[in-house]
Amino acid sequence: MTATPSDLVIERPAGLYCPAGDFYIDPWRPVDRAVITHAHADHARTGHAHYLATARSEGVLRARLGAITLQPLAYGEVVVHRGVRISLHPAGHVLGSAQVRLEHAGRVWVASGDYFVSGAGATGDAGSAGDSSAAGGVDGEARALEDNLTCDPFEAVRCDCFITESTFGLPIYRWRPQREVYADINAWWSANADAGRASLLMGYSFGKAQRLLAGLDESIGPIVVHSAVEPLNRAYRAAGIRLPATTLLGDVADKSSLRRAIAVGPPSVQGSSWAKAFTVDGAEASEAFASGWMQLRGARRRRAVDRGFVLSDHADWPGLQRAIAATGAERVIVTHGYEAVMVRWLEQQGLQAGAFRTEYGDRDEASGEIESAPSGQTIEPRADVPAD
Ligand SMILES: [Zn+2]
Ligand SMILES: [Zn+2]
Repeated sequence: MTATPSDLVIERPAGLYCPAGDFYIDPWRPVDRAVITHAHADHARTGHAHYLATARSEGVLRARLGAITLQPLAYGEVVVHRGVRISLHPAGHVLGSAQVRLEHAGRVWVASGDYFVSGAGATGDAGSAGDSSAAGGVDGEARALEDNLTCDPFEAVRCDCFITESTFGLPIYRWRPQREVYADINAWWSANADAGRASLLMGYSFGKAQRLLAGLDESIGPIVVHSAVEPLNRAYRAAGIRLPATTLLGDVADKSSLRRAIAVGPPSVQGSSWAKAFTVDGAEASEAFASGWMQLRGARRRRAVDRGFVLSDHADWPGLQRAIAATGAERVIVTHGYEAVMVRWLEQQGLQAGAFRTEYGDRDEASGEIESAPSGQTIEPRADVPAD
């Protein structure tokens, strides 16, 4: 979209750039100063000289990027850089995920990164959260049923311009209440266990896997996780997030116990020797995949799994609408997702709307899935999930 000289964020070949502060937000090419919204691979890349990110994301960022020069910031804490006040606010997407609030010369812009707000349940009146310090903590009683329980819930931040993601920005995407999805998953696992077969549940190793684990009913049977998942579990537990007890396959002494087990691993394990190890006495594991894309019948068919569970760490269509309205922004810039549809809808609401071209892909959700969206963009399969 056309930039004006007073814009706090513009698009550049290396990424979203703040001219006043001379830094980038989630740049896709190496830069000097990068503010990172969260540790998913398309947003947090290697090669930047300086990183600024939430203290909550430090463990997962270091686990994924190795030795980086990182300035950790508490949620709501303000750092001033070249006259730009920068603060980070919970996005409800994965552990440590943040929206970036920028304030300069009387203007406030917020870049969302990826965020999760479901339209399925009330998350309170997000519109009043102009002061970030008023936001609830992870364990607060006010915690809504629909929040992602593995990270701090999304907090609406008032701003003049909101840069929003739009991964599931089509009216067909409406999430069911997550307690119903968790109940479905546990019922599927329980039925498999009673039939003497293991359950293989696939989801992206960072964020989705922990979200799935948090909803599992430990009384059904043992929970085995892939080696790509366990290091992230450690980072979550170190951050105080409660996850059920998990075991690595190699540590399972009594293989017959796998009959009642659920195995959680990244999508790339499908068909691998690790997955085949869950065949007990000729009974193959039942396979399921959890993703927002599972709402599309074609996606379920192409993955060739027994079950598809619709569980996403991104806002659904009503969630996007509610989050955008709660910012009070008069101008909205749409990044990855169904930009054209969302821009049209925003304009119909009387807002000034545009789009930024970014190189963010929903690889975290897609995870090996090739999904052609109606607006024409293609979700590339990710290649960096280890096979075993
Ligand atoms: Zn993400
Ligand atoms: Zn993203």
